Amino acid sequence: MAEKKNEILELTEELVKFQSTNDNEEEIEACLEYIEDYFSGPEFSIKRHVHDGTPSLVVTYGENSDPGLMLHGHIDVIEASDEMFSPERRDGRLYGRGTSDMKAGVAVLMHLMKDMKAEKPDMGLMIVTDEELGGFNGARKLFKEYSPDFAVSAEPNNTEGYMHIITEQKGVLRLKLSTEGLSAHGSRPWNGENAVEKFMDKWREVKGLFSEHGAGENWTTTVNLGKIKGGESTNKVPEKCEAWLDIRTAEEYPNSEVIQDIKDIDGLSTEVISDEAMLKTDNDNVYVKALKKSADGFLEDCSITRKEPASDMRHASREGIPAVVFGPEGYNPHAPDEYTVIESLEDYHNIMKAFVSDKFSSNGGGQE
Ligand SMILES: [Zn+2]
Repeated sequence: MAEKKNEILELTEELVKFQSTNDNEEEIEACLEYIEDYFSGPEFSIKRHVHDGTPSLVVTYGENSDPGLMLHGHIDVIEASDEMFSPERRDGRLYGRGTSDMKAGVAVLMHLMKDMKAEKPDMGLMIVTDEELGGFNGARKLFKEYSPDFAVSAEPNNTEGYMHIITEQKGVLRLKLSTEGLSAHGSRPWNGENAVEKFMDKWREVKGLFSEHGAGENWTTTVNLGKIKGGESTNKVPEKCEAWLDIRTAEEYPNSEVIQDIKDIDGLSTEVISDEAMLKTDNDNVYVKALKKSADGFLEDCSITRKEPASDMRHASREGIPAVVFGPEGYNPHAPDEYTVIESLEDYHNIMKAFVSDKFSSNGGGQE
């Protein structure tokens, strides 16, 4: 058992060493080639997909264009200092860029694929390279080509406590709003119309569409006015004001209604920058329940829950594919102190193996 843990840990470290940020095509390519090499052998079939220049891989046991279970991981990471690409083991944790988000998860899934090669369960592993950019050329396209019965992303939960199964994540709506005014000299404001003031009025109307929220969890649709631009100089009446909103949607107030309500406000121009649906999978789905059962065999307290941040699994949801986010324990993604909890890697491996054996193995129930 200790050997397995070490193998996964070493594999994670190898993956972390690639500086596979979204703008570093060479390192992304090198990392993909490393993964292809890992699966060299007659048992595996590796299909490379390229959409608009963005490469992805799907690994299966022999030719299988329709695996019942699709595992998912991304190898692209957020920029970091060079030192962060030299992973460091400390206090039962592995620190480094992409340890948590999400090369530890990728390493476990890779190990799992190899570990089960004799059984050849009906599953595939999807490795994408553009999750941090929204996944539009990776998971978005691949979940149109593959229609598994269930998908699991090994993204970290980044939540308090140990691993949990996430069946819901909020939708994302990004809007650019603008108001137009009339420029004039600052000494004669009556000759102009102030676009910034006009926006401030309209903003109150926009904000009024969303319910009030307090501290703690708010499973409601929320709005953040993230950026605003208006005016050129102090002595000039601004003729244009632009603002960018980050709206996270829950079922109570979905994307389409929010867009319509904001478009209905007079004197405000609305441009939809992105419109991304929620991840929403039924908690009673047979695979969700089976995964929970497997997790309960190894963990004391694994719940089926929901989380605000979006992930690539929304692309599966969009195609009607039941999907969950369930990965090893990891914290501080995108931050300088990003780490994964080493102990969780083996637990995650064991849970996934039990789940796959239970639900996707042809010889059924082949748990060790
Ligand atoms: Zn991630």
